[in-house]
Amino acid sequence: MSVDDKAHDECGVVAINNGDAPQSTDAARAAFYALFSLQHRGQESAGIASADGRRILVRKGLGLVSGAFSEDDIESLTGSVAIGHTRYSTTGETSVRNAQPFYVETMHGPLALAHNGNLINAAELRRGLLERGVGLSSSSDTEVMVMMLAAAQGADWPERIASCMRSWKGAFSFVVLTKDAAYAARDPWGFRPLCAARLPDGGSAAASESCALRTLGCDSPADVEPGRIVELGPDGPVARGGVDAAVRRASCIFEYVYFSRPDSVWNGVQVHEARRRFGAALAREAPAEADVVIAVPDSSISAAIGYSQASGLPYDEGFAKNRYIGRTFIQPTQALRDQGVALKFNAMPGTVRGRRVVVVDDSIVRGTTTGPLVRLLRDAGATSVHVRIACPPIRHPCYMGVDMGGSGGLIARRLSIEGIRESVGADSLSYLSLDGMMLAMEKAGYGGNGFCMACFSGDYPLDIGGVADKNGFEVV
Ligand code: AMP
Repeated sequence: MSVDDKAHDECGVVAINNGDAPQSTDAARAAFYALFSLQHRGQESAGIASADGRRILVRKGLGLVSGAFSEDDIESLTGSVAIGHTRYSTTGETSVRNAQPFYVETMHGPLALAHNGNLINAAELRRGLLERGVGLSSSSDTEVMVMMLAAAQGADWPERIASCMRSWKGAFSFVVLTKDAAYAARDPWGFRPLCAARLPDGGSAAASESCALRTLGCDSPADVEPGRIVELGPDGPVARGGVDAAVRRASCIFEYVYFSRPDSVWNGVQVHEARRRFGAALAREAPAEADVVIAVPDSSISAAIGYSQASGLPYDEGFAKNRYIGRTFIQPTQALRDQGVALKFNAMPGTVRGRRVVVVDDSIVRGTTTGPLVRLLRDAGATSVHVRIACPPIRHPCYMGVDMGGSGGLIARRLSIEGIRESVGADSLSYLSLDGMMLAMEKAGYGGNGFCMACFSGDYPLDIGGVADKNGFEVV
């Protein structure tokens, strides 16, 4: 089994009920547009499933949403309900087999599911299914979820979904399609975002991030609460039970640091505002003798603006980014990742020549990006380069779905901050403190009930004992 089957995944999910006639393809088309807005959550593959009251149709393809579906694909996806998925690449094999939604026939009719997150007890659940004689074609946790749902007890789908949610541990924001309904649900800890809203012309939609619902014209996307199941009704989202929310809530802080789009709102906080405040806090904690502040586009622009505003140093464009190249993280080998940085960025000599430069990045994970960027700035004439990172050092792997690789790859686990500074060749290097980050979230108006910050603190909200070995996360 490839690691690819196992190490899931930051991904994007969407569910639509547009209340249309079953022969319409508008639900699938709305899912397609929503997936465009979730493209940043996964570029490896995309899939859409629609249902017309009798059957479920599925189309999946590799690559970006724009290339994964032809017009004929969309035209073939009839039905008033649809779900979609965009998948993030980890390492190993890239194949349509791993693309979602996953589809099965059940006693209660056809079923499709798409998932964002990672079940930490997938190995145990998988064994349970195999012992009961259920065959599996991969070790994907999403396949485990589908098979468990297919066999679940309960009077209707919401009951069956809730009964499965009781035995799933970890991060799961997911969408389910039956022959005539679509549901969206979130794990009791609330690790990954998920929101729902009424569509402007009737019907309803759910998506990983509010930016996708805004694209569809929804005014007021609301978070699906942890543990809750929502049915996408023809007149708007309808609560359909679920499980109790966990006592310890755990919104992934890394969604705010890096993953989510800046215009998305989650837990009452717009991601741009959180990042801007991270940057401002960083300026107060780690000022620099410098002439200009630049960002590593795109994910650190908000934080660099915040650093500039709080420090009084001017913000300028210091890098041109080739936006047609995918995320460098996607490259499965270190050599390709290194090359990816050079292919992706050029420094702007007009901004940095003869200047002392503060370069703000949102995070350092493996330490691949920073060194080459510092070199580009020096080659373009920067007289000094001060690296400022808008989150604390990442020393612990994520088991809840963010691809950071195993702990061995995390540079802050291997090296001291001074060691990292030396290895990336910066004149100075500082990270935002965890306290500074929490205060910034509070000031940004955070209305949630707690974070998962395990990548910084090592304090996991769930017992992850043995999970690394079982799920193969340490293989990267
Ligand atoms: P690295 O080069 O490994 O230190 O990765 C850090 C860079 O990749 C930063 O510029 C981030 O914006 C970006 N990044 C951070 N986390 C991720 C992730 N999970 N997937 C893809 N890119 C990431």
